[in-house]
Amino acid sequence: MTPSPTAPERCVLCDGASLGVEYAGPRLRVFCCAACGHRTALHLEPPAATDYYEQTPQSDRFVATLEATRRRQARRLIEKLAELGGTAANWFDFGFGRGWFLDEARPDIRGGVGGFESSPLAVRWAESRGLSVAKPLPTAADWPDFATLDYEPEVVSLLDVVEHLDGSGAERALQRLRAELPALGWLIVKVPSSDGVLYRTSRALAGLAPGPYEQLYQVGTLPPHYHYFNPRSLARLLERSGYDVRALLFDRDVDNLFHRIGSLRRLPGGGLAARAVGMFPNDSVIAFATVSA
Ligand SMILES: [Zn+2]
Repeated sequence: MTPSPTAPERCVLCDGASLGVEYAGPRLRVFCCAACGHRTALHLEPPAATDYYEQTPQSDRFVATLEATRRRQARRLIEKLAELGGTAANWFDFGFGRGWFLDEARPDIRGGVGGFESSPLAVRWAESRGLSVAKPLPTAADWPDFATLDYEPEVVSLLDVVEHLDGSGAERALQRLRAELPALGWLIVKVPSSDGVLYRTSRALAGLAPGPYEQLYQVGTLPPHYHYFNPRSLARLLERSGYDVRALLFDRDVDNLFHRIGSLRRLPGGGLAARAVGMFPNDSVIAFATVSA
C-alpha cells in the first residue's frame, strides 16, 4: 500500500470541501475538515515495508503495559456488548495484533474465536495460542479468505485498524465485511480520538516540539495513521458503510501514555498534560454498531 501523494480535495467522510491545513512539516501534512473535524494525513516520506511488529524495538515494560490495557479493554467491550443486548458468539477480530483481545475474551465467546492478521509474526503468536486464523486471499494478502474459517463470523471487531487504511479504504473495508459475512450482526470499531487530551495537548505543542504530534500519526511506521477520527466522524464512517451506531464508548489508552508521552513530559506544561491524559478517559472511542436493514 503506497500513500497517495496528492492532498485531499474533499473530506473523505462528509464530502466537505473546506479542509484547513492543521499541520505542515517535511514528513507529514494534516488536513482538518471544517464541517466534521475529521483529520486526514498525508505522509510525505513512506518508510520501507517491514513486518509491523519488527519495526520498532519495544521494551518489555511497554509491551506489558500495552497487554494490560488491551486485556482491560477486552473485558469492557464484552460487558458493553452484553449491556446492549448483543451476544458474544463466533467472534472475528480483524487485525488481532498480538491476540490479547481474543485471548482475554475467549471464555465469554460462544462458538468460533479467531481473526485475521497480515503480519506472519502475529499469525504465529495467535496459532500458538490455539486461535482460528483466516488465511489471506490468494489475490490480496491484506484481506481474509473467509472460506478458510471453520465458523461464520457474527461479531467482527476492528481495534486500532481502520485509521491505518488510506483514503476511503476504511469505508470500503466495512462495506465489504457486510457483503461477505451473511451472519454478521455486530461490528465494533475502536480508533484513537482527536477529542482526547493527548491529541489536543500534542497539537497545541506541535509548533514548539513536533515529536509527540508526529508520533500520534505514526510517522515513519508502515502503515502509519492516515486518519484521526473523532466520535462524530467515526459514527459517520459506520453510517456511510451500512451500519447503525448503537453506542459509543470512550476509553483511555495507557499504552499511548507510555509510548508517546515521554517527549511530551519534558516540555513546559508537559508533566501536567501527562497527568491529564491519565485522568480523562477520552483518548480512544469505540463504536458498537449493527448491520443496517
Ligand atoms: Zn468532514
